[in-house]
Parts: sequence; structure tokens; C-alpha cells
Amino acid sequence: MIVFDLKCSNNHVFEAWFKNSQAFNEQREQGLLSCPVCGDCHIEKALSPIKVKRASSQTGDGIISQEAVAQMVRTFYKKVVESSEDVGTRFAAEALKMHYGVVEPRSIRGVATDEEEKMLKDEGVEFFRIPVPTKKEDKAN
Ligand SMILES: [Zn+2]
Repeated sequence: MIVFDLKCSNNHVFEAWFKNSQAFNEQREQGLLSCPVCGDCHIEKALSPIKVKRASSQTGDGIISQEAVAQMVRTFYKKVVESSEDVGTRFAAEALKMHYGVVEPRSIRGVATDEEEKMLKDEGVEFFRIPVPTKKEDKAN
């Protein structure tokens, strides 16, 4: 794609996209080009430089691929794992001890049963449940 800065006889400058330079000439000769401001059909190329954009530069804003999301989750999980202590099935007990000041607060992770989770919530302990990647594939080796 190629973009031209065009100008009508009333000096209105506007941008228009064309497949190539020839397409511009054809549309101009057929009178298909008109000024978006005044509708004038006497269109000339303005003197400003021609900008050519490659298709690869036309990615939209604010969109990320599914793989990027997966990567984010992996990175997040890795960080959590690296910065927390694995207390395994003692999670509920350790969380309660911290909650009541028996031990110093620290980052822990582990597993809890539904009953334990309910108990922690009843006690007012704040925690997050995150999906833990299974290690079934590792064990298969
Ligand atoms: Zn015009």
C-alpha cells in the first residue's frame, strides 16, 4: 500500500491510500478522486513526501496473542513459585498462624481442601487461588 498526500484546487490537503502509484493515476484519470472537504475533482499530489507503510507495521493497538497471555501466566507463576515458600498441604495451618501473628508473615503457597479454604475465609484470611500447572507430563518420563 502507498499513501499520497493529495491536494484539490482549493488547496485542501488530504491523505488517500492506493495499491500503487498506477492505481492513483487510473482513479484520477477516471475522476474517481474527489476532495473530502469540498468534493472538488481536480486532485493533484501535494508536494509532501510519500510515506510507504509495510503490512507488518499495521498491527493494531492493545491486542495480544493467546500465546502472549500464556507466557504471562507462566511468568507470573514462575515469579510466585520463586518468591514463595511451598508449604504443601500445611497451607491452611501456616496461613492461620500468620493471620494470628504466631509466625512472621511471609509468602507461602500450597494446597488446601475445600473445607480448609472455607475455614480460612471464615477466619478472614485473605488468599488467592491460582491454577497450578500439573506435572503429569514430567512423571510420564
Ligand atoms: Zn477541496
